[in-house]
Amino acid sequence: MIPLVVPFTNLRPETEAALAGEDVLYVDVSGSDHDYHDLLGELWGRGQGCIVIEHDIVAYPGAIASLRGCQEDWCGVPYLVGRNFVVDLGLTKFSAALTVAYPDAVSRMEDTHWATQDGQLLGYLRPLRGGPHWHWPAARHLNGCGDESRVLANCGECGAALRFAELAPGPNNARCRNGDWCNFFSHG
Ligand SMILES: [Zn+2]
Ligand SMILES: [Zn+2]
Repeated sequence: MIPLVVPFTNLRPETEAALAGEDVLYVDVSGSDHDYHDLLGELWGRGQGCIVIEHDIVAYPGAIASLRGCQEDWCGVPYLVGRNFVVDLGLTKFSAALTVAYPDAVSRMEDTHWATQDGQLLGYLRPLRGGPHWHWPAARHLNGCGDESRVLANCGECGAALRFAELAPGPNNARCRNGDWCNFFSHG
């Protein structure tokens, strides 16, 4: 079973509550700006793969099972960052095969500061593997980047505001409050 790891400096109660019943390894990475990198490197080096959940992401019921059950090597649940849904390190699965295929993906990083880990790791893997497999719907992101009151777009049919709640179901299922299909995602 791929280990499920929550690196944290400020663990949100909602994040922890959403993982009740899961076998989770919580790791305090507040000791230095480089602890997150060191943890990723240790996990990667085991060659078992890992599922990473950051401390302010709320996994909805079924999210972890969906990642575990998928045969793809690199998967993630999208979440909101600003006006965009992204799959970064917030809720991501790297399979054992992937960690073995690219053993230096973490150790090769020139910058070990926590804030640069997603950019370097995903930036390295993307040309090699074409990007992660997205698992909709989107998860909640409990910091300013994931502000659910923010209007992200307006419905192309009726003009109604589209926020996280309307768009979280994803490209095929997002609807405005009047039931119109949202073309938000087709604009990239
Ligand atoms: Zn997948
Ligand atoms: Zn509408």
